[in-house]
Amino acid sequence: MSPFLNIPYYPAFDRMTPEDAATAFESLLADATRAVDALERGHTPTWTGLMRPLHDACHPLFDAWGLLGHMLSVMNSDAWRRVHEALQPALVAFSLRVGQSRAFYASYRALRDADRNVPCLTPVQRRILEKTLQAAEQAGVGLPESRQQRFNEVQAELARLATDFRNHVLDATKAFTLTLRTRDEADGLPPALLAVTAQAARDAGETQATAEAGPWRITLDHAVYAPFMMHSRNRAARERLCRASATRAASGDLDNTPLIEQVLSLRREMAALLGYASYAELSLSNKTARKVETVDALIAQLAGAARDAALREADDLLAFARAQGFDGATLEPWDTAFWAERQREHIYTYSDEELSRYFLFPRVLEGLFQLAERLFSITITPADGEAPVWHPDVRFFRVADADGTPRACFYLDPYSRPATKSGGAWMNDFRTRDRRADGTLQLPMAVLVCNQSVPVGGQPPVMRFQEVNTLFHEFGHALQHMLTTVEEPDASGVNGIEWDAIEIASQFMENWCFDRPTLRGLSRHAETGEPLPDALFDKLVAAKNYRAATAMCRQLFFAATDMDLYARYPRPEWPDADAVKRLNAAAYLPTPLLPEDRFLCSFTHIFGGGYAAGYYSYKWSEVLSADAFAAFEEAGLTDDAAVRATGQRFRDTLLALGGSEDPMAVYRRFRGRAPTVDALLRHCGLQPSS
Ligand code: ZN
Repeated sequence: MSPFLNIPYYPAFDRMTPEDAATAFESLLADATRAVDALERGHTPTWTGLMRPLHDACHPLFDAWGLLGHMLSVMNSDAWRRVHEALQPALVAFSLRVGQSRAFYASYRALRDADRNVPCLTPVQRRILEKTLQAAEQAGVGLPESRQQRFNEVQAELARLATDFRNHVLDATKAFTLTLRTRDEADGLPPALLAVTAQAARDAGETQATAEAGPWRITLDHAVYAPFMMHSRNRAARERLCRASATRAASGDLDNTPLIEQVLSLRREMAALLGYASYAELSLSNKTARKVETVDALIAQLAGAARDAALREADDLLAFARAQGFDGATLEPWDTAFWAERQREHIYTYSDEELSRYFLFPRVLEGLFQLAERLFSITITPADGEAPVWHPDVRFFRVADADGTPRACFYLDPYSRPATKSGGAWMNDFRTRDRRADGTLQLPMAVLVCNQSVPVGGQPPVMRFQEVNTLFHEFGHALQHMLTTVEEPDASGVNGIEWDAIEIASQFMENWCFDRPTLRGLSRHAETGEPLPDALFDKLVAAKNYRAATAMCRQLFFAATDMDLYARYPRPEWPDADAVKRLNAAAYLPTPLLPEDRFLCSFTHIFGGGYAAGYYSYKWSEVLSADAFAAFEEAGLTDDAAVRATGQRFRDTLLALGGSEDPMAVYRRFRGRAPTVDALLRHCGLQPSS
């Protein structure tokens, strides 16, 4: 039988093939469609008559789809990609059909009304129902026929514009190249960048190109652009690149300017059709920030603390550059990254390489597990071999309460495999805590995927500090998924949590990487066995905060522009979207943009991605996670009993309740108050403004 059918609790990862998926999906889709059809024709509008059966009708298909997506991202091949691409349209169509069913929508409303008259749902079920209803309404199901048709046209047009926007940015990024032919022109570039750009030159037909002698092909691709601007001593080349980047997709066939106005206008129309005053109100209606004013206040508070500090950072950088021989009147946009990197090297004299000798993967993992055991009273036990895995490097673990009660299990796929594994790191939730009708309980199962450096030639498996951070981050997501106590699958673990609150647990765990005893405990030098010296730890913390105010101002500039465009645009005093950007640049950035800057034309996050009226959430989740960590600091990080008590409270609220309640209410239960920005500012070395 195909491993995608009747999936056992431990999926047969060791014998899944693209052919298995292709054959299984036909019957999975047919079964799900038949079950949904039958429900649509006849059901009682109750939890057990509709909500649960609908979940059960869809889940064999969705679970299999999740496994297929997983195999695609960790064992990628043309065959997996072809199967995924071939099946995707049918899956999208099926989801839309369930989400836009008028029969189900009518019953959701009937159930809500019945529950309002005589309560018949648990609070968790009520919240799931409210969210299901809201999602249906925001998919246009509640609209009268004529307006629904227009709504669907708007949706289709927005989807097309988002794709065009992204493609224009990609094509414009590819269209610019700069080939450097002499060692002088390539002065300052680190060996890794020389190798990558020589390879790019070879790929473009310069078959003689070598890392040592060039030529080197420089592009606007972020992985090349960012290190080039930091390291190139060729100021003229930096200027050309900087100007090209700032005007990407802003002219000719690839001009995104008209698309920006169309996206803004269509999103306004979509919000109006659904009865919202602006697209920002629609977007925030299902996020924890809820109101435009809340986001405005967050931005204003952080800007008040960061703006002056960022101006000082700019002055410091200019003074540093002058002392090093820079003779310009002011640092131009193409100088900043270069001199900032020189200043950082000058102040924090350690290399990534040197630091990584202290982080042996097995010791880091042990230290992370000890921390989780101490904070949340759990035990984590290796159980390799007890469940099938997709690659020999994948580890398997079991999680239990201190008294031995099993809670969850997880897989860890640590190492980079560039040929078959997607980049980045993520946590997947294969199984969620679920109490079935027959009383049986399914325990959660999580998958952590990282892309750490692979140990080569008998070398010890050392991690870069950034990789340690990433592991902590993903483990935070996994903890929230695994330690849930909710037994309704649509609200248990990481399910049902508002989009702008999903990073609290993960970023919270990252904070421990900057806690001295924790980091000392998990560090051990690969040769000497010594823990991380205090002096190096101090530099690490300081380096984290290097130009923190400038970085924060940049994020606030993006967030404020996003909010203005989706909450308040158009206004008579704003001739176009770019004018809004210029006003915000003047208000938030410590140094001016180039006069010809057209960065909105490549702001894919809000015009071609999911961050429209949501860019603030990067800062929002940092505020929440820093404030949560501050609860441990206030309790006293060296007081073991206090840390354990605070950890238990964190487990009982944020980790246990997840999406079963409004995350802000859960947060207040943990903290005893609403979050404040103070801890984030303090952690960044900034003072709250009075
Ligand atoms: Zn995350």
